[in-house]
Amino acid sequence: MRRFDGSDLVIATHNKGKLREISALLEPFGVRVSSASEHGLEEPDETEDTFAGNARIKAHFAARGTGLPALSDDSGLMVTALDGAPGVYTADWAETPQGRDFAMAMQKVWTLLENENAPFPRKAAFVCTLCLAWPDGHDEVFEGRVEGQVVWPMRGENGFGFDPMFLPDGEEETFGEMDPERKHAMSHRADAFRQLVQGCFD
Ligand code: IMP
Repeated sequence: MRRFDGSDLVIATHNKGKLREISALLEPFGVRVSSASEHGLEEPDETEDTFAGNARIKAHFAARGTGLPALSDDSGLMVTALDGAPGVYTADWAETPQGRDFAMAMQKVWTLLENENAPFPRKAAFVCTLCLAWPDGHDEVFEGRVEGQVVWPMRGENGFGFDPMFLPDGEEETFGEMDPERKHAMSHRADAFRQLVQGCFD
């Protein structure tokens, strides 16, 4: 496992929610972070059908484009009764000609579950794959997960994406209602992050 011993890291995402969460998680390590968009990078096409494959595309693209180590996140919601959908296509389910609409995407998930009379609890997991890539082509990949269920109606204004319909196991608040620190302590991103820190930062 290669350790990160530099002082600058590019966060290979254009998603403001992920950028905010990853920057907060990295804060204790005194690493100077910048975003892919600050470096004027485009978003590469995510052409793989796995979280790890797409995380690799994004991290290597940013590392090559900046000459700095880059950290990417590919993540999504997997709903058991929908055979793991939307999965790697989670962001795509929110696409509209006017931009991303997550209320519409959450409604779509719930309508599909209703149409097939899916049993309760409607089990789901958030998955997050982090890839740390270096400009020489080396990378390390970590996958995190949090189990729970999807609920309706959506609840809460915090977080981003599908947070308002995700209730983690053993909790009473959705990720959308939860204090951000509490989400950061238990989320799929926090789980992947703990592994990244153990492998590359500690
Ligand atoms: P991608 O990894 O950029 O392909 O997009 C993943 C999508 O999954 C995001 O746009 C969000 O909609 C969703 N997602 C990933 N992580 C979270 C999370 O922590 N909360 C809510 N939605 C998430």
